[in-house]
Amino acid sequence: MQTGEFQPAKSVIRVSPFEGHTSYAPYTCVQCAEAWCMTACPVGAIDINAAGAKDVADDRCVGCKLCTIACPYGTMFYDPGRRKAFKCNLCGGDPACAQACPTAAITYEEVATEDWLGDFAAERTARMLVGVA
Ligand code: SF4
Ligand code: SF4
Repeated sequence: MQTGEFQPAKSVIRVSPFEGHTSYAPYTCVQCAEAWCMTACPVGAIDINAAGAKDVADDRCVGCKLCTIACPYGTMFYDPGRRKAFKCNLCGGDPACAQACPTAAITYEEVATEDWLGDFAAERTARMLVGVA
């Protein structure tokens, strides 16, 4: 998503410092399959665009901020000036962050989705069921 102005506070990609600024990690919406933001939106203002990204439709967003609470990754933002939610929309399939990064630390690639929590969830569910059996 590009706003046309240089204003880091409105950036939809943020950088986390680690260990006393010895390393950094950029993060933005992971376009998660669960799409908690879409589920939470009471007016259906979040669509999936042609690039496959969840995208806020400004003409439908009523600025309730429920999506900002629902996103577990902290990557749904709210613009008080416009009273609209906003997020990474993959810039239509050609992300500007990847274009701008001088060290190619950000690349845009189609990759298979990893089920990071599947094993943990199955193991935890099994443990909890033992408790109620
Ligand atoms: S802020 Fe907008 S996009 Fe987010 S939940 Fe509310 S209406 Fe939907
Ligand atoms: S904003 Fe959050 S909940 Fe919505 S698709 Fe991105 S990571 Fe998932």
